[in-house]
Amino acid sequence: MSAIFSFQSLARCSQTKARAGVFFTPHGPVETPRFMPVGTLANVKTVTPAQLKDTGAQMVLSNTYHLHLQPGEAIVKGGGGLHKFMGWSGPMLTDSGGFQVFSLSEMRKITEEGVKFRSPHDGQIINLTPERSIEIQNALGADVIMAFDECPPYPATRQEVEAATERTYRWLERCIVAHQRSDQALFGIVQGGVYLDLRSQAAVALAKLDLPGYAIGGVSVGEPAELMAQIVQTTAPLLPPEKPRYLMGVGTYREMAIAIASGVDLFDCVIPTRWARHGTAMVQGDRWNLKNAKFREDFAPLDETCHCYACQNFSRAYISHLVRSQEILAYTLLSIHNITELIRFTQKIREAILSDRFTIEFGHWLTESGTKEQED
Ligand SMILES: [Zn+2]
Repeated sequence: MSAIFSFQSLARCSQTKARAGVFFTPHGPVETPRFMPVGTLANVKTVTPAQLKDTGAQMVLSNTYHLHLQPGEAIVKGGGGLHKFMGWSGPMLTDSGGFQVFSLSEMRKITEEGVKFRSPHDGQIINLTPERSIEIQNALGADVIMAFDECPPYPATRQEVEAATERTYRWLERCIVAHQRSDQALFGIVQGGVYLDLRSQAAVALAKLDLPGYAIGGVSVGEPAELMAQIVQTTAPLLPPEKPRYLMGVGTYREMAIAIASGVDLFDCVIPTRWARHGTAMVQGDRWNLKNAKFREDFAPLDETCHCYACQNFSRAYISHLVRSQEILAYTLLSIHNITELIRFTQKIREAILSDRFTIEFGHWLTESGTKEQED
C-alpha cells in the first residue's frame, strides 16, 4: 500500500469477525466501522459542509457518473478538485459510475471495451470505459476511487453473473494500468451476484492484486436480506485483513451490524437524506413519519439523547410543521439528524468492539428476525 494510505486494526471482537480500526487518507483519518454520507452531485442534499462536519461525518461520497454529466470533471478540476470545489476538507470517495450506468438498462450497450449510453441530460452518446472512469476520477481528485465494474441485476442467471464477474476482473486490471495518481487509493470491487462460489473466487483473485482497499459491490439490488447477509459473510473474510473493506450502498442498522460482524469497515447509503426528504426521521432503530398527527403537538426533540443541531434546538411539532409546509428547512434538519444517527450507530459499535462488548450491546441486531426499517 502507498505510504499515505494505511489501515490500522485496533481491536477484534472475540465472538465475531468485527473489528475497529483507522483508515488513514491524505485528507485525514477515518475511524472504522463508519457510515459515510452520500453527496451525489458534490453536495449532501440540503446540508452545508459545516453542518455535515457536525454530524460526525469523516469520509463523504460523490458520484462519478453524475459529476461527469454535470458540471463535468474539467470544471471540478478547474475549481481545485472535488474537496475545494465543494468545500469539504475531509476524506472523500468517488464511485466509478458503473452502478449508475448499469441501472440505465434501456439506454446502454455493454461490450468488452466498456459501456455506451445516451446521456439523460442531452441525448449525447457517452462511452464509459475502465480507462475513462479512472481518468474522470483522477480529475475529480477524491482520496479513494473505485474500479469500473459490471454490476449484474438481480435476478440474473449464473452464466450472466459469471461473465460479469470475469469482465469486472479484466476491467479492474485495466483500471490499475490507467490509474495515474499516487495520492488516490484505487479500491477493487468484488462482484459475483448471489452465487457464493463466484463471490469467493472473485474475492481470492482480487486479494492477490494487493490493492489499498476492497469493496463488496452488487448487493442491495433487490435480493432477499438473508442472501445479502450470506454474500457478506462469505466474501468479507476472504479479503486481506490489513486493508479496509467497504460494503457499497448499504446503510440500514441491521445490514450494517451484520456486515460489521463479518469484518466490514465502511458503508454508504442515500437513505438518511432520501428519507429526510420524505419527512422521515430515523430514531434509535425506528422510523418515524413526521406527517403523522401525533407529532403536531409533540414538543419534545426528535431524540432527547441526540446531540445534533436539530435535536438540540427544535421540537417534533416544529419539524412536523415544516414537513407539512414542505419547507426546505425540514429536509435540512431531518438530514442532519438522520446522518448523525447512522454515524452514531457505527461509532457506538466501534466503541463496543474496542471494549469487546459488540455482541453484548448489539447482539439483538444480529439475531432478531423482524425489522422496523424497510426500504422505501
Ligand atoms: Zn438528532
